[in-house]
Amino acid sequence: MTTALKVSRDLVRHLSTFDLSETAVMAPDLGTARASMTPYRVAAGFMAKSTKLLTAPDENLKLTHSESDRVAAFGLSLAPADLSGDWNVCRYAGKCRDACLATSGNGRYGRTQAGRVWKTKWLASEPLHFLRVLVDEIDRIKVGAWSDAGWTVSFRFNVLSDLPWETIAPWLVRRIADRGIRLYDYSKWPTAKRAGASSLGYEVCQSVTRGRPLPSTFMGRPVVDGDLSDARFLDPIGSVVLLRYKNVSTTDRAMAQASGFVRSVA
Ligand code: SF4
Repeated sequence: MTTALKVSRDLVRHLSTFDLSETAVMAPDLGTARASMTPYRVAAGFMAKSTKLLTAPDENLKLTHSESDRVAAFGLSLAPADLSGDWNVCRYAGKCRDACLATSGNGRYGRTQAGRVWKTKWLASEPLHFLRVLVDEIDRIKVGAWSDAGWTVSFRFNVLSDLPWETIAPWLVRRIADRGIRLYDYSKWPTAKRAGASSLGYEVCQSVTRGRPLPSTFMGRPVVDGDLSDARFLDPIGSVVLLRYKNVSTTDRAMAQASGFVRSVA
């Protein structure tokens, strides 16, 4: 007997088959939308109750780095690449999958990964409900209070994914930007395919190689130390962001370097 290999499906292509306009997303009752996440949580081993979707500024090591710039960074953490088993959220991921940050920090805990998996499956299966809840949580971020305290609020759609939200739900990108929330992401997509993001107030940086120590310039461009802050929208135009290699359980430094995803810049 042969066992068929399970192949993950491209989530962007799948989402394009839904009407994800603002009218459609805001139509469902919020309580109904929230309740619909429960079966996905239970299937992943969590309690049968709804919970928040967003990663708060103090819940992800990478996002806390922005505190040095007085940036309160919120984000959405899905299961990277095809880690959910069903859906590929990183169409252009290559060798980076092995060295991805998915298992560093809190990600090394199975429960954290399971939390990302149910969110990914819920988004794929019930995108209207998922987005209804996401909008509600983002709307409730107290941008004015953060601003009064001298902080900028930022949001990353893709803490551990690579979905082109300016294509999936452009109105949502605009809605968030219009609240004064700075939107940014790293992406492996070809630059031309995400060219529309910036006009909506969504800064998309090309993913760059990692290494240490950091030189003052790389490929002729001034270097920004990406480990000091995650607030990419504050970087000088034309600069290159470098980050140091992080230990993850899925690979080691030698493998990551051999893959080309990590390079020595010394
Ligand atoms: S594209 Fe980004 S999030 Fe996806 S696997 Fe690669 S490094 Fe991880």
